[in-house]
Amino acid sequence: MTGDKLNRLFSAMSPEQYELLVGMENSDPLTASFVKKRVIHAGLSGRAIQPEEWQTTWQKLMRQPAEKGKRVAYLHIPFCLKRCLYCGFFQNVSAEEWETAYIDRLICELEMSAEDRYINSGLVHAVFIGGGTPSTLSPHNAARLLQAIRFYLPLANDYELTLEARIHDLVPSKMEAWLENGVNRISIGVQSFNTLVRQTVGRLDAKEVILERLQQLSHYEQAAVIIDLMYGLPYQDWEVWLEDLALLSTAAVDGWDLYQLNVYENSILKRAIDTGLLPPAASTAEQGRMFAAAEAILADNLFSRISVCHWAKSNRERNMYNTLTKNGNAVLPFGCGAGGSINGVSLSLERKLDQYIASIDKGEKPIKGMRQPHAVHGLQNAILGQIKQGYLAIRPLAAQYGADVLEIEPLLKLWEARGLMHFGSSAARLTVAGQFWYMNIAQAVLECLNALITGEQVVQANMSYG
Ligand code: SF4
Repeated sequence: MTGDKLNRLFSAMSPEQYELLVGMENSDPLTASFVKKRVIHAGLSGRAIQPEEWQTTWQKLMRQPAEKGKRVAYLHIPFCLKRCLYCGFFQNVSAEEWETAYIDRLICELEMSAEDRYINSGLVHAVFIGGGTPSTLSPHNAARLLQAIRFYLPLANDYELTLEARIHDLVPSKMEAWLENGVNRISIGVQSFNTLVRQTVGRLDAKEVILERLQQLSHYEQAAVIIDLMYGLPYQDWEVWLEDLALLSTAAVDGWDLYQLNVYENSILKRAIDTGLLPPAASTAEQGRMFAAAEAILADNLFSRISVCHWAKSNRERNMYNTLTKNGNAVLPFGCGAGGSINGVSLSLERKLDQYIASIDKGEKPIKGMRQPHAVHGLQNAILGQIKQGYLAIRPLAAQYGADVLEIEPLLKLWEARGLMHFGSSAARLTVAGQFWYMNIAQAVLECLNALITGEQVVQANMSYG
């Protein structure tokens, strides 16, 4: 009977594990469905490949033809002008001398793969230059890198080429170098328009500067302009959040992502809050209410919803890189600190600049970690792609990946009863509360299905309440 196997899994779990995975009975699904957000990115990891096999595995992958489907490339720029207080990923302070040495190696890394069968036997549909802060690059270095990308990667005619930028770097010499060399999407970390809020966490410019520079960028008409907003930052009270949302209507942008602030253990922000230097960030419950307010306001304004956390204001915004990545398409990684996935093999590249440079100078792919595809790799990609779009259609998944997938239905019905989703004729759709908790839902579905299919342990991520 459907659900029997799932019940056996649940009865073997401790009450704490069960609560972490399934959530809690509650009177307000938005604020109290789960104890906490469990993961930043939902997913299951495959078996680690031993370091001595990394180079041969990479070479083998590069000798194969490209898999079916679309592909994207990710290039990492590991420099920032200044460390943001909330950042858990800062690598190096910008310095042009280091940047030049780094861009030399990054171009070399692109060139090293350019003749490989894997690279040449398919197209690259989207490229994302992330960081760090790619816009810190000098116009000369940015132009060199962009020319190399267009020369060495087989880009599709309708390619999307995104560069991550700071408002501070939206100056004519830089914008012209990006736009003259193929950038057609600029993603800017605004976080909040409010001057106090953003400068408190280490962003540089005031609200008036942001609005003016976005306007200047839009005048070039060469690229979609996308911004990130965060919710839950210190000093970002209800009034500030409503103003942030209201400004989306008038600011010169084509789309935006809304991110929940994560206060990382190793961040300066955590220390500043713990020592009383800054007021606390919003609690998870407050963040839930901020998300729900945003969802309602943006729906009222008839903005298009591209995913659970991404909206478009104009039809220039396609969000191809993010959508293709979430659906499990191959990601070619380049650069110090980049990560990717090829034929289901995931890999991360060296994060230390000197070691990255040394690997490239030896003619090696600077690999720092590699994992085999997970046993439920294909199913995992399909589930993550659906949940990111705000639904789960388990019957078509069962037809493709086997009847065990149907065993998850009682859990979805339980979440329906708790206000996290509702069943329609073809799929279970996430409610606004379900959208807020979508990472927990995705992780729990993956862990349960993996346990049902492979017999592995159920709860894989973040066992504790820590
Ligand atoms: S710009 Fe991004 S990577 Fe750099 S410190 Fe700020 S949050 Fe971290």
